[in-house]
Amino acid sequence: MSYFRRNIEHMPPYVPGEQPPPGAKVIKLNTNENPYPPSPKAMKVLREFDPELLRLYSDPMSRRFCQAVAKLHGVPVDRILAGNGSDDLLSMIVLACAEPGRKVVYPMPSYVLYRTLAQMQEAEIVEVPYDDDYGLPVDALVAAAGAVTFVCTPNSPSGTVAPVEQLAKIAGNVPGVLVIDEAYVDFADSDAMGLTRKHDNVIVLRTLSKGYSLAGLRLGYGVADPKLLATLIKVKDSYPVDSIACAVGAAAVEDQAYRKRCVAKVKASRRKLSADLWKLGFKVWPSQSNFLLARPPEGDAERIYQGLKAKGILVRYFKEPRLDDKLRITVGTDKQNAALVQSTRELLA
Ligand code: PMP
Repeated sequence: MSYFRRNIEHMPPYVPGEQPPPGAKVIKLNTNENPYPPSPKAMKVLREFDPELLRLYSDPMSRRFCQAVAKLHGVPVDRILAGNGSDDLLSMIVLACAEPGRKVVYPMPSYVLYRTLAQMQEAEIVEVPYDDDYGLPVDALVAAAGAVTFVCTPNSPSGTVAPVEQLAKIAGNVPGVLVIDEAYVDFADSDAMGLTRKHDNVIVLRTLSKGYSLAGLRLGYGVADPKLLATLIKVKDSYPVDSIACAVGAAAVEDQAYRKRCVAKVKASRRKLSADLWKLGFKVWPSQSNFLLARPPEGDAERIYQGLKAKGILVRYFKEPRLDDKLRITVGTDKQNAALVQSTRELLA
């Protein structure tokens, strides 16, 4: 007899982007991290953190952090739930809402973890194709009538944004929960946070991994109706956020001026990188995130990915239908981006 459930044994694992060992000499443009350091105010809290506090369990509800987030969004603190990265909130939602016979629905290509989580629950999976411009297939998503519907906006790997009116239409017409994954929203011109007030089935997910440069801290949060959160709390870990993350994360969220400065730099670099790639003959999708989906002139994305890797530059290549002729390139500093463009030019020659 196998030790494991059949579907777990047979499902493919989620494969995160490559993380070279600390100190490795690579230009890392493969997992959408922020090229700038975290807020100096947050780093001061980290340096001054009292290690004696680690003897005690962390706050099960991460109140210090959630209060900072509640103030940022101007909502009561009972509308915030923190997790060990927004991945942790995705897990809670799927665990609470998905099971065999209930549908998990999302447009594709999108964040591959949605599929993995649904497979773990043996939920019925409905993948609705995006068109090539990544317009949201609203009617098909509604018609699929999911117990959980995921929309990632800005979407990964396309960087494209779903209009709020379309998200509202989905929220108002699906029987289940609409998860709006705003991991990359710090780099966008609009957000859908307002929908959490109008629809009790909407949860908006945010992370400190991208806009706040704290991917290694593992901290994210959801904003939703308190009744929805009360049910998610039943399936969360007892202490999902450690004491260091709670304190450092609160300070980072309170330093909006610093976040905005970093985001402005990334957006300016994104414009330049996109223009440079177009000049090399790439097709580049219009991105409101900190990465670009780009198709090389000959569609030989795997060769360029390997060639860049050999030159010490990591970008993301997905060997999947509709993506295997494209690269997803994280926007780095101008210097990193220039190195990427130069190496790509050499590979195309
Ligand atoms: N959603 C999307 C679309 C992502 O790309 C990521 C990062 N891989 C996450 C959620 C999870 O981010 P984190 O767990 O670091 O908050």
